[in-house]
Amino acid sequence: MKKISVVIPMYNEEEVVKTSYLRIKEVLEECKEYDYEMIFINDGSKDKTLKLLQEMAQENKKVKILSLARNFGHQAAVTAGIRYVTGDAIVIIDADLQDPPELLPEMLTLWEKGNEVIYGQRKIRKGESAFKLLTAKMFYHTLNVLSDVEIPKDTGDFRLVDRKVIDVINSLPEHNKFLRGLFSWVGFKQKAYPYERQERQAGKTKYPFKKMCKLASDGIISFSTKPLKMVGGLGILTIILSIGILIYSIVSYLFNLNSLTPGWTSIMVAITLFSGVQLLSIWIISEYIARIYDETRNRPEYIIDKKINF
Ligand code: UDP
Ligand code: MG
Repeated sequence: MKKISVVIPMYNEEEVVKTSYLRIKEVLEECKEYDYEMIFINDGSKDKTLKLLQEMAQENKKVKILSLARNFGHQAAVTAGIRYVTGDAIVIIDADLQDPPELLPEMLTLWEKGNEVIYGQRKIRKGESAFKLLTAKMFYHTLNVLSDVEIPKDTGDFRLVDRKVIDVINSLPEHNKFLRGLFSWVGFKQKAYPYERQERQAGKTKYPFKKMCKLASDGIISFSTKPLKMVGGLGILTIILSIGILIYSIVSYLFNLNSLTPGWTSIMVAITLFSGVQLLSIWIISEYIARIYDETRNRPEYIIDKKINF
């Protein structure tokens, strides 16, 4: 019997824990030809999330809990979850039921047809602020301009993934994973699954502006080195500009075109030339630092405090 593993990250979700569990469970139990497990990751919640999860785990052994030592963030929580899955098909879903679990049977059908990554693509996003929609749009646009991998627009982490792909993702040593990017970077047979994103069931978003910025910078830095190169381009541009000013001053001096304030030339040339040289050097140094940084960040992405039903 094939098994489905559902991975659900939770951070201060006491308001949705129960409804979320019941709704996902109902869907899973309707898929009678599959066995299932539900892996909840408690990402350092400060409310009753863990307590509620433990109650569920006691009455249903298919409910497994990974409780992290503190809040490590959504991506780290999902990374922890997918490391412990034992199923053949893995589903990543948010706790707030914005991604309807009822779509699972259709996604499973697509999986049975040989697709290996079925990613949810939002046709509409209900109940999101205009600010969130705008920044998300800008982010995906920038990311696609900068990055060499095609990262599909309007996708989050809601997806069904074959075991084979999860094994590859788990074997990647990099930290600060931008999962939705990696899932498209690894290749395999990908399939978009358009759906309507619902409003959050209850509670507030756990993605304040700061966390959104971190996610965006992880996305850009781990999929592109172009920003570093752009700094270099800026340096070269400044140097060209300073040479231009130099030529202009010499010409106007020789032909006495206009009387420049004495000292203007030397100051302008020095400022532009040296700021150009500085930007250029910072670029070169950053290229090295970025590589060293990449190699040395060897801290674990998350720390597990408790494991239940494993
Ligand atoms: N989440 C998490 N750790 C965090 C922030 C969020 O595990 O530090 C979980 C959260 O509980 C939810 C999912 O990540 O299951 C997505 O968060 P949310 O719905 O708040 O984000 P939004 O939909 O508003 O972008
Ligand atoms: Mg949400």
